Amino acid sequence: MSFASLGLSEALVRAVTERGYDSPTPIQAKAIPAVLSGGDLLAGAQTGTGKTAGFVLPILQRLSTTPPRKPAAGGARPIRVLILTPTRELAAQVEESVVAYSKHLKISSTVVFGGVNINPQIDRLRRGVDILVATPGRLLDHAGQRTVDLSGVEVLVLDEADRMLDMGFIHDIRRVLKLLPPQRQNLLFSATFSDEIKALADGLLNKPALIEVARRNATADTVRQRVLPVDKARKRELLSHLVREHNWFQVLVFTRTKHGANRLAEQLAKDGIPSLAIHGNKSQNARTRALSEFKSGSLQVLVATDIAARGLDIVELPHVVNFDLPNVPEDYVHRIGRTGRAGAEGEAVSLVSPDESGLLRDIERLIRREIPRETIAGFELDPNARNEPDVDDRPARPSRRPMRGDASRSAGPRQGGPRAQGAYATSRGQGAAQGAQPARGASVPQAQRASAQAPRASAPAQRGSVTPAQPARAATAMAAPAPAAPARPAGVGGFRGRPSRSGR
Ligand code: AMP
Repeated sequence: MSFASLGLSEALVRAVTERGYDSPTPIQAKAIPAVLSGGDLLAGAQTGTGKTAGFVLPILQRLSTTPPRKPAAGGARPIRVLILTPTRELAAQVEESVVAYSKHLKISSTVVFGGVNINPQIDRLRRGVDILVATPGRLLDHAGQRTVDLSGVEVLVLDEADRMLDMGFIHDIRRVLKLLPPQRQNLLFSATFSDEIKALADGLLNKPALIEVARRNATADTVRQRVLPVDKARKRELLSHLVREHNWFQVLVFTRTKHGANRLAEQLAKDGIPSLAIHGNKSQNARTRALSEFKSGSLQVLVATDIAARGLDIVELPHVVNFDLPNVPEDYVHRIGRTGRAGAEGEAVSLVSPDESGLLRDIERLIRREIPRETIAGFELDPNARNEPDVDDRPARPSRRPMRGDASRSAGPRQGGPRAQGAYATSRGQGAAQGAQPARGASVPQAQRASAQAPRASAPAQRGSVTPAQPARAATAMAAPAPAAPARPAGVGGFRGRPSRSGR
């Protein structure tokens, strides 16, 4: 199948060909005709599937072939398309795609997100754009200052809608909806379909086309996965060894906590390996700088928390390292999905200490495959080593209300910070002990709500999935994976939410 056969104009086909795309991805093959038809769309697809082009290309086609519904006010063109994303990084990335795909068209776009000076954004908006990509909080700041006019919007896209809800953006979304004209095309993209997403879709979408592409809980075959068992205290040493020994460049390393990310980046830098950390406590400028140095290849190692890395698309990223295993098994799939994208080969290495064996077992159940173990000479497990969860793993202190744009200050059951994730692990641990693990199809928010009722004082002792009472079980899981879990029910209801966060 070709892009031209989907009904896209020559200018758009030329732009994607110049990007190196030969043929549409499955989500593009389904979404492009659906969006071109002008109707609403509910699409189940994650970052990495090519979903951005799936909505941007047909939107560009529509804009380039139809005049604006609302005439230009005072000479400035009206905003015809609004794309909302949960994170600043994703917003920037989506707008980059808009620019790339519209290079042969006379269509203008801009992006607004928090953490940076609002004034240049105001200037840009005043001059008029066709397509606005925004995070909800900053968009509402502009609306409050009357520096944005959304009354001419013809198409609304909610990208990664599940993340936006997980991050507590539902009220902001509702406020944004009130600023839009009732007559418009609505496109909702979500990797998961919790009850909340279904409720949002029910209220927002009018007889939507339903599209779903393969979930990526099945990890891509283009990613070579390995588990390297190692004592906790020697993880950093092993990582430095691997990077140096194999001369790895562009290594994306995941840690569970912001503090852990900072500490690791500093230690690696001391080892002579250029490294920076990226997480929600960093200023937007620091995040942008680290990311661009990493993308350009001048920064050897980027250490990231799950939150900061959400939606990052780095072309041909060769190495992903799990310095800590994630508390939420789905995050493993998202993390390693950073590599081996769009057909390129990649490698995902997990440094797993014995205290993480329960997390490893959960991951292998989810992806329904055994990840090969490989012991690195000189880094064999020491039976006398103390392998206890880090103090970093302690749930973060809760704040009174969720904050946008700052991972460390956000808390509460709707937030995806360490506390929420820790609470999830706790609830799973308790559930397993009582033989009452949350149903596979249940969304994480549901699990979190349940876990939020657990006494907070008990959380630190139960963090992670391995409790001190389970050493034998932990050791066994390191040696051999758990049997595969039964397949999840197919269809929209089989998706599962997970926590996240973002920036205003
Ligand atoms: P997305 O899921 O939109 O973040 O896209 C993931 C990656 O796939 C991006 O690097 C895109 O540039 C790339 N991509 C999108 N569509 C195609 C295609 N048809 N062929 C090859 N790569 C693509």
